[in-house]
Amino acid sequence: MSFSELGLAPALLNLLKNQEYEKPYPIQKDSIPSIIEGKDLLGIARTGSGKTASFVLPILTNLQSSEITQNRHINALVLVPTRELATQVRDVFHTFSVGLPSPIKTMAAFGGASINPQMKAMRGVNILVATPGRLIELLESNAVHLSSIETLVLDEADKMLNLGFKDEMDQIFKLLPKKRQNLLFSATLSSNVEAITQFLLKEPKVVKINISEANLDLINQIAYDVSEEKKGPLLRYLIKSQNMEQVLVFTSSIYKADNVAEKLNKNGIQAIATHSKKSTKARRDALTNFKNGKMRVLVATDLLSRGIDIEFLPYVINYELPRSPKDYIHRIGRTGRSEAAGDAITLVTPDDQHHFKIIQKKMKCQVDHEDGDSINLQGY
Ligand code: AMP
Repeated sequence: MSFSELGLAPALLNLLKNQEYEKPYPIQKDSIPSIIEGKDLLGIARTGSGKTASFVLPILTNLQSSEITQNRHINALVLVPTRELATQVRDVFHTFSVGLPSPIKTMAAFGGASINPQMKAMRGVNILVATPGRLIELLESNAVHLSSIETLVLDEADKMLNLGFKDEMDQIFKLLPKKRQNLLFSATLSSNVEAITQFLLKEPKVVKINISEANLDLINQIAYDVSEEKKGPLLRYLIKSQNMEQVLVFTSSIYKADNVAEKLNKNGIQAIATHSKKSTKARRDALTNFKNGKMRVLVATDLLSRGIDIEFLPYVINYELPRSPKDYIHRIGRTGRSEAAGDAITLVTPDDQHHFKIIQKKMKCQVDHEDGDSINLQGY
């Protein structure tokens, strides 16, 4: 199956080639034709599955034959849980809007940044990607109107609900026109997502991508059994001895993220921590510097384990275990994306052994263990 068989606007096919999207990922193959047909969709898929393009491409296709909105009315609204995801989704819309016969303007709006520039920038926007809280603020200042919306997308609906956006979402739903297309994407189908699905979607096409299992094959997973006090030196040993140039390290607390980054820096490994206590600017700068190779190590809490799209990330290290198998998959899902293989390394202390066994059992996979304590860590 090729992209040309999915009914996409011809101009998009060249852009897909330029982006080296050779053939559609499963979610794209299954979703694109029915979204173009105007159907509602429930997509159970996480970041890494190619879900963004699965709604971006058909929305842009449909807008080519739509009446383009004006005067702060928008054609499509994408609700997302975080500013990071907002900018990523906007970027994908931008990538695929270049040179379309009907020009489409997409904007991202999110909290934690000043609202005035976003209000001004709303002029002429056709597709708005927004976090629910900031959208409410924009609505209250009449910077945007929702009555012309043809397509609503909820991206990472489970995360939006987990972050407590339910009330804002309900408020927004009330302002939408009755006749519209609804697309809901979620990594999980928890009971609260199910409830929103029932309420929002009409006879949806259901697409379920078990990416966690599919993608795990692409990831070389390895665990190092190590005592608590040797974790720091082992981390530095792994980074230095394997010449890792771009490493995402996960910790379970903000304190630990700061602490690990500080120790890496002290030992001559450029690292920066990112977490919810950092300002938007600091988080954005950290990610940009990490992505463009200026920063060797990014130390993050689980805040980042979803939604961050880095083209190729060769190494993820779990300095501390995540709480759930799901989080483990989200974390290591940074590697083994876009059909490229990566390494996921987990440091496992004696206290972690039992929990790590549970994680492996839930993932239905066995991770090879190495004895970290027998490695000579002198000098690290
Ligand atoms: P997403 O799940 O939307 O975050 O996409 C994950 C990654 O896969 C992104 O880096 C996309 O650029 C990439 N991607 C999505 N679809 C394709 C495709 N059909 N071929 C190659 N790469 C893709």
